[in-house]
Amino acid sequence: MTTRPASFVTQEPTAPRILHAVPAGQPTSVHQLAPGLLEAYEAVGGQVHLAGCALEDVPVVRFGGDPDRQVPEDIILCPEQKRYQSVESSLSALLGLGNVSDALPPAAAPGEWIRQVVADAADFAGQSESDMEVVVIWCKYVRGKIQCTIGEALAEQAFEGWAHSLKPPPFHCEVTGADSLRLAVTSDSRIIAAEQMGQCSLTAKRLPNCELVRCSVTDRLVAAENVARCPVVLKPLLPDELVTCSSCREQVSPEALYGGTCLVCGSLRRARFDDDRLLRVFASIPRLAAWKYFRMGESASVYVLTASNLFKQRLVVVDKISGQLRHAAQGVRFSRVWTPLAEKEFSESL
Ligand SMILES: [Zn+2]
Repeated sequence: MTTRPASFVTQEPTAPRILHAVPAGQPTSVHQLAPGLLEAYEAVGGQVHLAGCALEDVPVVRFGGDPDRQVPEDIILCPEQKRYQSVESSLSALLGLGNVSDALPPAAAPGEWIRQVVADAADFAGQSESDMEVVVIWCKYVRGKIQCTIGEALAEQAFEGWAHSLKPPPFHCEVTGADSLRLAVTSDSRIIAAEQMGQCSLTAKRLPNCELVRCSVTDRLVAAENVARCPVVLKPLLPDELVTCSSCREQVSPEALYGGTCLVCGSLRRARFDDDRLLRVFASIPRLAAWKYFRMGESASVYVLTASNLFKQRLVVVDKISGQLRHAAQGVRFSRVWTPLAEKEFSESL
């Protein structure tokens, strides 16, 4: 601020001497703000523009003029709350108060209102403003929206802040949680952070990485809706990669199969009559309870049970949720050879 009295003075005989200033280099219009903001964005295949941007003049009152007098900090009339507050150094830097230049008061600010602001600020600071020089520094506060359009898709990011130090606000991607200045559109017309964009190797659809899954067999990235999950090793894989266990006939990952039999079938354990899982299978197939010896195992989706008596064996695979029989077979005790049975045949064989 120059010490030279500015030409633009609002003065009355009994009123303080009020000068007006602005932070040097402060953008004063949307036209001045827009290029610096928009050049920071990249919309792949689309464009970014300002929507609904408005600037408000906010007064910061600086008491001074007498170097021997203890001058309080600058007092700001906060834009939202319409209350007064001392300007701390961090805010002072954001406002650009370290380097101000003479200016006209805003056309929209009546002299009476300005005098009232100065009087109220003096009250707040415990100063008598009547005999000192007062500078009102007019700081621009900006509110607006950045809008991104890519094809038919549209995304908006609201922002606000001081024009002197306004930085381009990153878009907050609701899908991935990422904040980014680079935007791209998914195949289903969602604008997301470009850094988070992936592609399904099956369908070539562009999708957020968080909606893609890596197949544990082929290592290919595919849409989560296109993968299966092995109920034994609990890993995702492409449905085409599933293999069938020769014993329980469940579809599993090759990783879960040894010698044609899945890990569940290969590790059945003796089950006692008080085993809850066994009781659940009995609830679905009551006549099994008449058999003598049981061995059991389970995957994420089924119970696998063998029931045997002195010479015969039955194998049943029961859905854990529905209790439905998914597969049944018969064999000779101690043999690993199973002959599949249709449900009716199985019922009759018990
Ligand atoms: Zn099996």
